Amino acid sequence: MFDEGRRTHATVTLTLDALAALREDAAQLAGHGTITADLARTLADAAESVTLLVLDSDTGRPVGISDRTYRPRQHLRDKITTLFPTCYFTGCTKPADASDLDHIVPFDHGRPDRGGPTTIDNLVPACRHHHLLKTFAGWTYHDHHDGTITLHSPIGITSATRHAPLPLARHDLQPDDDEPPPL
Ligand SMILES: [Zn+2]
Repeated sequence: MFDEGRRTHATVTLTLDALAALREDAAQLAGHGTITADLARTLADAAESVTLLVLDSDTGRPVGISDRTYRPRQHLRDKITTLFPTCYFTGCTKPADASDLDHIVPFDHGRPDRGGPTTIDNLVPACRHHHLLKTFAGWTYHDHHDGTITLHSPIGITSATRHAPLPLARHDLQPDDDEPPPL
């Protein structure tokens, strides 16, 4: 019997600098071999389901692993992308409907009851590039609970505060109480 849980899947190993497009370190595609950094970034952006193993650019030690299998359902995605037409990173114009949805309070895969929920108030669009950079380079969101969210880098850079296009409507929408926890 066909198992719908198994889809086209790629496992890519690359350095953080290659992910950030700062260097062109060669990457590895499981089952294939060495690939270019550019192809690795393309796969990370395009694969339906991709696991990324990200290595420290200097030591080669793993700094994180990302398995992009937790995806909010389409109706929730539609609401978020209506409220936020583009990637939430300041200055990025990548369309929201071509972006990931990122948890403001991080989702806890080990203890979903303790981490941030997959709800309209806890999600913003982040293009794959910025989402991965945030995950692996240690950027964090700070929700001011007034319709604004700022982004902070681990070395103290704070992105310009960006207002939600429809800050009131965001809170007028009903919560997705029926939304099941992500896989
Ligand atoms: Zn972006």
